[in-house]
Amino acid sequence: MRAVVYDKPFHVTVREVPKPKIVHPDDVIVKVTTTCICGSDLHMYEGRTAAEPGIVFGHENMGIIDEVGSGVTILKKGDRVVMPFNVACGRCLNCEEGRSAFCTVVNPGFEGKHIHLWLEVLTPNTQNHSAYGYVAMGPYPGGQAEYVRVPFADYNALKLPPGTDHEDDFALLADIFPTGWHGVQLSGFRPGESIAIFGAGPVGLMAAYSAVLRGASEVYVIDRVPERLAKAKEIGCVPVDFSKGDPVDEVLKIRGGKEVDRGVDAVGYQATQSDGKTEQPNIVLESLIRIVRPTGGLGIPGLYVPSDPGAPDSHSAKGYISFPFGKLFEKGLTLGTGQCNVKAYNRYLRDLIVAGKAKPSFVVSHNLSLDQATEAYDKFDRRIEGYTKVLLHP
Ligand code: NAD
Ligand code: ZN
Repeated sequence: MRAVVYDKPFHVTVREVPKPKIVHPDDVIVKVTTTCICGSDLHMYEGRTAAEPGIVFGHENMGIIDEVGSGVTILKKGDRVVMPFNVACGRCLNCEEGRSAFCTVVNPGFEGKHIHLWLEVLTPNTQNHSAYGYVAMGPYPGGQAEYVRVPFADYNALKLPPGTDHEDDFALLADIFPTGWHGVQLSGFRPGESIAIFGAGPVGLMAAYSAVLRGASEVYVIDRVPERLAKAKEIGCVPVDFSKGDPVDEVLKIRGGKEVDRGVDAVGYQATQSDGKTEQPNIVLESLIRIVRPTGGLGIPGLYVPSDPGAPDSHSAKGYISFPFGKLFEKGLTLGTGQCNVKAYNRYLRDLIVAGKAKPSFVVSHNLSLDQATEAYDKFDRRIEGYTKVLLHP
């Protein structure tokens, strides 16, 4: 089958790889109809986080079930499904309580075999976060390919209405729509409140859209890429261009000096200064602490890596970032972080789409064939020509 294969930093090619097989009775094989490129793929694409040459990328996948393992009870061949980017067991404490991004059974040490579930009770687990298409997050090849294997499939695939309606909207249920929603949730947001979202990438735009859907009074979206700010404006948010001046001062000026209730960091450690070049991983955290009112909340879905081998000094190489914690304490701010537990949200977000109450696909800029992936990665990585969210169709 054809798949997007990582060769070396800044280089992916589309080529033949073996088609996945059922490995465990709980697996299904999905024929992929849509698979998205994510900002998170770029961490590996740019060679900042571990990626072995030859791996297949892609953790935002949907399609039609093609083969069903003998232990699968809910799904059937022909079902249309979308897969949360997290791979999780569905039975451990964290899964049962809705924290599927922190599944204690499925982890990078898990070799695709069924281990005894009681082991997680006996073995303290220090590794977690499993996803398709990452070497550091388990043995699961990605879905930027014609087919993808889905483990613990009854748990890790959400059924969709048959047909082809809402294909672009449903594809975003694998990651960015739930992740944007999660960012807002982590901030402690309540209807009627105001919120500032840093980053108008796919995750930031989905956070902004979620805040709109959830009844925010004002949503400010900060970025420097014109096409992305235009999309924020399109959904009724106030765009703020941080290349034109301090975005916190700008928001405070618009609001007559009043801070916002909540803030979301949808940028992560790759935050840049206004020139768009110099990386400054603490800048968004600092801005959030300034922009949010005392006792407000910050949601941080943007990625901060536990260690960054490419960092210029040894302190940040250990994953340390300095920011004014004393100010955070003084303001009594709360802080929510972490990967999105997609399972906790995607059923409800699917139903909003089906009911016509949400249309997250406004964020999609490009629908391309799988064979156009090489060019799409390059342009999305450089954030040029309006590349905001790319959907690939094998
Ligand atoms: P992206 O790189 O496309 O978007 C980031 C945006 O931030 C860009 O548009 C960039 O111009 C902007 N930006 C850079 N510096 C800024 C600054 N100082 N102030 C304001 N904006 C700034 O990425 P994305 O796909 O939208 O993802 C955003 C982050 O979320 C990434 O770190 C990604 O890894 C992470 N992520 C987390 C989860 C999760 O589960 N928590 C899931 C998906 C993605
Ligand atoms: Zn993603």
